[in-house]
Amino acid sequence: MNTNIEKIYERIQNAKEKAGRNDKIFFVAVSKTRTVEEMKEAEKISWVDFFGENRVQEAESKKISYPDSKLKWRLIGHLQNNKARKAAEIFDFIDSVDSIELAARLNRIAGELNKKIPILIEVNTSGEESKSGVSPKNFSELLDFTVSQENLSLEGLMTVGPLTDDEKEIRKSFSSLRGLIENSRASTGLALPLLSMGMSDDFELAILEGSTMIRIGTLLFGPRDYTKKN
Ligand SMILES: *Cc1c(COP(=O)(O)O)cnc(C)c1O
Repeated sequence: MNTNIEKIYERIQNAKEKAGRNDKIFFVAVSKTRTVEEMKEAEKISWVDFFGENRVQEAESKKISYPDSKLKWRLIGHLQNNKARKAAEIFDFIDSVDSIELAARLNRIAGELNKKIPILIEVNTSGEESKSGVSPKNFSELLDFTVSQENLSLEGLMTVGPLTDDEKEIRKSFSSLRGLIENSRASTGLALPLLSMGMSDDFELAILEGSTMIRIGTLLFGPRDYTKKN
């Protein structure tokens, strides 16, 4: 765990000030590869709002050993269709809906589980091949479909910024997502409060571009060790 947690909070406040904002920005502690013990430490921080996990299986095993977590869990990684049911059972929010097929499946499963699933649509705003998310070209079709599904509750959009040091490129990606959410609010009449963008390396730029939910792993917990077994 970062020993200077206050510094993170300060950087968020400074970015908000620079952007002239004083609205709420949700903080997702990205706990992939971290132990339940590390998650319990993060949960003590008053301004941490959610846990973010990117793999269904990893989240499931942690949830079993930590069923009474006080924070809600968000799925922020790509979801394969065949893991949709498990994801719907484990997660409180699914932030990575990126296809009509997945949305349809989640809607059906939610009906069977007798619940409504809050979701975000993930958009690939950078055009990078390795990134998941619906392409901006196919976005409006997915938006319309998602909104028509009675067991899904669309709360906003998510994106992962491009892998570059070029601040202009990164901001372009974030501002394009903001453009999409503004159009979506207008066309659907929904509030869509959640604009999830910004990670350890680019959250300040995301806040300048209107992010209302940042997802932070490395900066909070330290570098990830993918070789370590959870
Ligand atoms: C891992 C991950 C993050 C957190 O990344 P850091 O650079 O460690 O802050 C945020 N969002 C998604 C989708 C991730 O997979």
